[in-house]
This record gives sequence, structure tokens and C-alpha cells, in this order.
Amino acid sequence: MQSPLQLDAVVFGGGATGLWLLDALSAAGHRCLLLESADLGGGQTIASQGIIHGGLKYSLRGVLTASARSIRDMPGRWRMSLAGELRPDLSHTRRRAEFCHLWQTRQLRSRMAMLGALRGLAVTARVLEDRERPEVLAGCPGAVARLDEQVIEPVSFIGDLAQQHAAAILQVDAAGGLECDHDPSGRRRIRLLSPADGGPLDLLPERIILCAGGGNEGLRAQLGLPPGPVMQRRPLHMVVLRGDLPELNGHCVDGMATRVTITSTRDHADRVVWQVGGQISELGVKMDRASLLEHARAELASVLPGVDLSAADWGSYRVDRAEAAAGGGSRPGDAALLEDGDVVTAFPTKLALVPRLVDRILERMPPAAGLPHDLTPLARWPRPGVATPPWDEETTWSTEPSVATARM
Ligand code: FAD
Repeated sequence: MQSPLQLDAVVFGGGATGLWLLDALSAAGHRCLLLESADLGGGQTIASQGIIHGGLKYSLRGVLTASARSIRDMPGRWRMSLAGELRPDLSHTRRRAEFCHLWQTRQLRSRMAMLGALRGLAVTARVLEDRERPEVLAGCPGAVARLDEQVIEPVSFIGDLAQQHAAAILQVDAAGGLECDHDPSGRRRIRLLSPADGGPLDLLPERIILCAGGGNEGLRAQLGLPPGPVMQRRPLHMVVLRGDLPELNGHCVDGMATRVTITSTRDHADRVVWQVGGQISELGVKMDRASLLEHARAELASVLPGVDLSAADWGSYRVDRAEAAAGGGSRPGDAALLEDGDVVTAFPTKLALVPRLVDRILERMPPAAGLPHDLTPLARWPRPGVATPPWDEETTWSTEPSVATARM
């Protein structure tokens, strides 16, 4: 058995948070490893819509809410990384779109909400002239605005970071191949058993940082941290369409609510795929697939008048948002970080907030000693792959929502 590996930090979970953090810790000279139990990004990140929100969605009442204040600088921060001007270097991450559209189905109240939201935000909405509207929104009776929020391709983002840090990312068997105890000096020790051959590897980290999304709760128990309501899950039932669809990225806001959020990507066969979230996916949690798809068909006909979706295939997927516990199951207003001695538990709440969360974790790290970090002994350790998006795993596409089978 190798002698224990001395580390400044061990990061659990290779979604957006863990990978961004790994990059930041490495750049700051910390000796660190990231441990992933399944596929990178497989919890929420790969299933997400990839919008780098700037807070307008949270300001539809025309008031700059705490949520909007915490997120308003994020589009600018991401933009610099996506341009390769700041670490992490995301210049190879694909973008689905450089901006989003906001549109509405009614004239007055929501138009005022849209305009009232502009104050105090770095990203504002510009109401478009009729001739500037994309064709897919040409039939909308309400205002259409453009919002400079980029939309990233989560698979590409995760793949980009994973490739840059491959040597420091290990596959672990969270159920049977991970033991947590203390060494004789009282320091936390993590013993890993190789998923390939069962060979042990001991890690002695100064800090353990949990970025495992829905896995954080179980990891806290494995580390012997006090049980308590640190995490909440807020489920979604997302609708997906694929076929000969126009590309559309944006939100239909009616009144104060985001009625639908649609983002567009491509599947393995290069077909356009729409992910449909927003209110529809919240309401859909209590519906079986067939009922949700029927409801979605009616909703999309209403929010996108004149758009023909009759040739599309329809599907759905369920996924939980894993966040820090907030009273009454409401959405936390910011990224959250919990400290239990040498263990930090991190929840970004939004993909867009990951840089803000990582900055806060870094502030809590002691200065890096700049000690050598030789990962060559781990060259043969198994590495995780990047998760497959839900629409590429979907096997029960239906052309007629009302006859879709309830699989999930
Ligand atoms: P995750 O992405 O869940 O990653 C956790 C990782 O930890 C996974 O790789 C998992 O396999 C691994 N793991 C789990 N257990 C263990 C263990 N025991 N040991 C080791 N590893 C483990 N936010 C936005 O800003 N914009 C959006 O448009 C947006 N759209 C969304 C749409 C949907 C449908 C959902 C569900 C969320 C959306 N979000 C969005 C929120 C955003 O996706 C999440 O806040 C963010 O991706 C969380 O990233 P994470 O790395 O913390 O967690």
C-alpha cells in the first residue's frame, strides 16, 4: 500500500461546483483531488438548462430582490471565463446562445413588470421592435425582449473542465469503496478502494469540500457529521421535445411568473432538442408523464401561438434540485456554504452562482504552502466519464403527448 497522500483539499462531486472549485484550488497552488462516484455532472448540471442568469427572472415585480442582488454580477464573470480571459478557461465550452429572449402572451401587466425590473441589474432587457423578433416569437401578442444572458452547453462545460484536470479526478465507489475515519493524530483520513482492483489509497486532507449535490447528505453521514436539515430537494418534471424545431432560448413571463423556460440543444443524432422548464416543470411534479405532456402541448400552443409542433417527438425527465435547506422548501436566495470544522458543504443553488460560491470557499482556505503535488502514482486509477444528457437516454419518445407511456 502506498503511503497516505497529504492533500490541502479533497473535493467530493464533479458537477459544476466541484470542477470549478478544483480549477480554482489548483490555480491557487493547493494540492487537491476530486472524487466522483458516478458520471461527472450527472446530478443536476448535465440536466440543467445552462442559462447564466443575471437576476431579471427574480425581479419581475420590479423590485431588486436579494436573489437578484446575489446573482447580478454572474453573467459578466462567466462571460470572462467563456472568453478565456479569467480562470477557469472555458474558451472551449460551447454556448447554446449568446442571449435569451423574454416574451409574454398578454400586453399590459407583464410588460410593465418586465420594464420595472431593469433597475439595479447588470443585465437588462431590451424590448425588440417587431422586425427584430425571431420568427418563432413573431406571433406573440405581448412584448418580446432580448436579455444578454448566455446559455452554455452543460455537457461541453463539464467535459472542458474535466479534460483540463483529468489527472486530479478519480472515480470512487461511494457505497463500498470509501471509508472515513481519523488517523492516530486525530486528522481525518479517507480510505479509497480502487474500483478497478480494490487496492487501497489513503488520503489525508486538510479540508474536505462536499460538492456532491444530492449526494452531500449521504457524505455528511459517512463523515460522521451531526444529522440535521442541511439539504432540501425540490423536484422538477421537465418536458423535452425533439425534431425539426427552431432554436429558442428564453422565458415566457406572464405576470410575475415564468410560465415556461425553453432552451435548445442538439441530441446525439444532431436533432434540435427543446428542454422545457419553468412553471410547467414545477406543476408537472405531481403529474404522470402522459398528463404532463398533454398539459405541455396546451401550454406551448398558448405561449407560442402559430408555432407548429405537430411533428415533434415528446418526452420528459424527472430531476431534483439539491439545495441548502431553506424555510418552507422555498428557493434559497443565494449560494450556500456550511462549515463543520474541516468539512465544508457547498450548494450553489444555481449554476450561474458557482463562481460566487467557489470564491467564498477559497477565502476560507489557508494560504497554499506550494508543496509538490505528484499525481503520477495515481495514473492507473479509474477516471469517471461525463454524464449523458437525459434526452439522449430517453427511450420512450412519443409523437402524440396524450398517448405517451408513463415510464418515470
Ligand atoms: P451536481 O450537478 O448535482 O453535481 C454533483 C456531482 O456529485 C455529480 O457529478 C454526482 O455524480 C456527484 N456525487 C453525488 N454523490 C457523490 C458521492 N457520494 N461521492 C462523490 N461524488 C458524488 N441553474 C442555472 O443557473 N441556470 C439554469 O438554467 C439552470 N437550469 C436548471 C435546470 C434543471 C432541470 C435543474 C435540475 C437545475 C437547474 N439549474 C440551473 C441549477 C443548477 O443545475 C445547479 O444549481 C448546479 O448544476 C448544481 O451543481 P453541483 O455541481 O453543485 O451539483
